[in-house]
Amino acid sequence: VLEARNLTRSFGPVKGLDDVSLSVGRGEVVVILGPSGSGKSTLLRALNWIEPADSGDVQLNGESLPWADATRRIARPERLLNERRRRLGMVFQSFALFPTMTARQNVALGPRRLLGIAKAEALRAADALLDKVGLGDKVQSYPVELSGGQRQRVAIARALSMKPDALLFDEPTSALDPESIGGVLGVMADLTGQGLTMVIVTHEIGFARRIADRIIYMERGRLLMDLPRDVAFTTAAPDYFRAFLSREG
Ligand code: ATP
Ligand code: MG
Repeated sequence: VLEARNLTRSFGPVKGLDDVSLSVGRGEVVVILGPSGSGKSTLLRALNWIEPADSGDVQLNGESLPWADATRRIARPERLLNERRRRLGMVFQSFALFPTMTARQNVALGPRRLLGIAKAEALRAADALLDKVGLGDKVQSYPVELSGGQRQRVAIARALSMKPDALLFDEPTSALDPESIGGVLGVMADLTGQGLTMVIVTHEIGFARRIADRIIYMERGRLLMDLPRDVAFTTAAPDYFRAFLSREG
């Protein structure tokens, strides 16, 4: 589904991404681990068309992303941005919900605006998605009335509302209270059983171990390891990865 080839991105002297290649198949769940500053977010932003790499190519369903031409300029940003939002759902550490809209309005907004779905139908679909993430009784709540974990689950429902080809998560639980984390991870674990393609950056090692098909490990902008979950957590994994695991606890 999603394929990145030789992505490179420099920030002055710092290599955010150093020749990173990666391929994610349909229905696959890939977890990206690595120390702070290793390029995990930079990689997700490049995959997601938010911020292009300096060089390299990203393909979604066999099509190159629009800036991957010689000029790397986006001719019609708005149309492309909408297309990106539709095809690759993104869930960030900070859930940017619209504060003046209820949970169901937040979830229905994308389908109404970008997919042209009629209001009543979009709201009905939003309620069903909110129910799926365990918020069936909160559809009329405003973000300020929800806990951090509940807001993040609204953000997941919102990403799902666009029926994306893949969902990308960047540390979705790292801004949450400890007691909110479990609910969000539970929702994500449910999604993995439903054939969704997911790329997840997280520091929740136990979660990665339970749900990932593959584990990727990054350090200093380089993708050092890409192994099936069943191999990554055994003594067959490289020493640097085992050292990382013992540091992370
Ligand atoms: P964390 O676990 O802390 O979120 P990360 O693996 O997501 O870390 P990135 O945010 O991808 O790391 O950053 C990779 C490197 O690129 C870091 O050295 C960072 O300082 C640098 N970097 C990222 N974005 C920028 C930017 N906009 N300007 C300058 N340097 C940047
Ligand atoms: Mg990051």
